[in-house]
Amino acid sequence: MKELIPKIGLEIHLELKTKTKMFCSCLNNPEEIIPNKNICPICVGHPGVLPTLNKKAVIFAYSLAKALKMKLNNKCYFSRKHYFYPDLPKNYQISQYELPIGENGFLELIRENFRKKVRIRRVHLEEDTAKNIHMVDYSLIDFNRAGIPLLEIVTEPDLNSPEEVEIFAEEFVLLLRYLNISEIKAEKGGIRFEANVSLGEGNQLGTKVEIKNIGTIQALKTAVKYEISRQEKTLSEGKNIFQETRGFDESKGITFAQRSKEEAEDYRYFPEPDLPPLFFGENLSEELANIEIPSDKKDRFIREYNLTDKEVVILTKSKFLSHFFEESFSELSQMINDFDMSKKLILNYLINDLWGLIQQYVENEESLKDIESEIISPHEFAHLLFMFHQGKISSRGVKEILAFCLTEKKRVENILQEKEKISDLEIIEKIMNKVLAENPKAVEDYLKGKKESFEFLIGKMMKESKGRIDPYLGKKLLLDKLTNLKSEA
Ligand code: ZN
Ligand code: MN
Repeated sequence: MKELIPKIGLEIHLELKTKTKMFCSCLNNPEEIIPNKNICPICVGHPGVLPTLNKKAVIFAYSLAKALKMKLNNKCYFSRKHYFYPDLPKNYQISQYELPIGENGFLELIRENFRKKVRIRRVHLEEDTAKNIHMVDYSLIDFNRAGIPLLEIVTEPDLNSPEEVEIFAEEFVLLLRYLNISEIKAEKGGIRFEANVSLGEGNQLGTKVEIKNIGTIQALKTAVKYEISRQEKTLSEGKNIFQETRGFDESKGITFAQRSKEEAEDYRYFPEPDLPPLFFGENLSEELANIEIPSDKKDRFIREYNLTDKEVVILTKSKFLSHFFEESFSELSQMINDFDMSKKLILNYLINDLWGLIQQYVENEESLKDIESEIISPHEFAHLLFMFHQGKISSRGVKEILAFCLTEKKRVENILQEKEKISDLEIIEKIMNKVLAENPKAVEDYLKGKKESFEFLIGKMMKESKGRIDPYLGKKLLLDKLTNLKSEA
C-alpha cells in the first residue's frame, strides 16, 4: 500500500464583536449570565417580525474577507437555511449560500523553515443559534446567544498534519486579533472549529469524516491527531471508513461516532425575502482596509529589515511589538547611523528584555497602549539604547531601568534625564555662574586660600544640576574660573 497522506479542511464559526445582535438591537453580550436577558421578538423568532441588518457585522465580515485576499462579491444576499431544532426558533437560520461575501482566498503560514498557502473556500455571514442546556430529564433554552452575528469560514482540505492545523488556527486567531473583530477567549465559545479529515494517496482525498464543535486550538489538534490515527488503524486492518459526523470527547482525547452522513443534507435554501441584497462600493471601511495582516507583515519585515523567519514570527505575535520594533528602529538607526547595529540592539533588548517584562505586567493587548503612553515609547526606547551605545549606560543599566520603570510605573524619559550627564560646557558654565553669584562668601574664602571652599562650590553645582554635571568637566571649569579670578585680584 502506498503512503496515505492526511487531508484536513476546517470550518470555523466565529462570533463577531458588535455592540448589538445581527438583526435586532438586543445587546450582543456573550458573557451575560442571566438567561434570556438580551432578547426581543425578533431574535426569539415571533411570527411577523422583520430583521434589520447590522452594518458593523457586514463591515467586519468584509474586512476579514479582504484580509484573506478573497474574491469579494460586491453584490451578495442572505438566504434561509431550513432545519428544525429547539435552539432555532424561526425553524430557519438566516445565512448566505450561493453568494457569500467572499470566495477563493488564502492565508499564508510563515514559520521557521515552513511556508504554506492554505486556500480559503468561502467566508459568509449568518446568525448564531440559542443555547440548549440539558438537565437530567428536561432541557432549558437560553436565547441570549440567538442572533449574535456569526462568520463562517471554510478552508480547502490543504492541511496535512495536526501540527499544520495548529499553525493555521494560531495564525487565524492572530489575524482576528489584528483586525480586532472578535473577542476570543478560550473556553468562552467565541470560536468553534469543525475539522474534516480524510486519508488519501498523493493528492487524492479519502472518505471524509467531520469532527464537530471543538472550542479550543489545543482540542482541535488533539481531535485531528486522534482521528488520523483511528483512520490509519481502520484502513490498515482492511476495513472501510464511513462518511460520518463524529464528536470529540476532550477528557478522553477521542472522537466518537454521532451520525452517519450518506448524502448532503437538504436545507431548502432560498433567498431571504425580508432583507434586500447587499451592494458594496470600494472601501467599505477605510480604517479596516488599511490594516496590514500578520503574514504580509512577516514578508515585509524579511524584505525590509533582512530578518530571519524566527525573528519575524516573534515580532508579529503582537501588533504592539511589531509597531514598537519599527518605530524604535527608525529612530535609533538615525541616531547611530548603522543599520545592522541598530537592528541588533533593538532585537536584543526588545525581544529578550522589554517584551518579557511587559508580559509580566500587562494582561491584555488593550493595556499595551498605556505602556506606550505612560512608561516607554519607541522614541524613549531608542534613546535608552543610544545612551548604551555611547557608553553612558551599561547593559545592566539598560535592563535595570526597564525593570524599574515597569514595576514602579515610571516614565523612562524622566529616569534618563536624571541619569544623563551634562557635558555641554555652556550649560555647566551657566550653572557655575549661578552658584558663584549665590555664594560670594565661599568664593572669597577660596581666593583667600581656603581649599575646602572648592568642594563646597562643586557640591552646590551638583545639587543645582541634580547630580547630572559631568564631574570631570565641572571641576575643570570651576578651577579655571577661580584661577582667573585669583589672577585678576
Ligand atoms: Zn433581539
Ligand atoms: Mn454555519
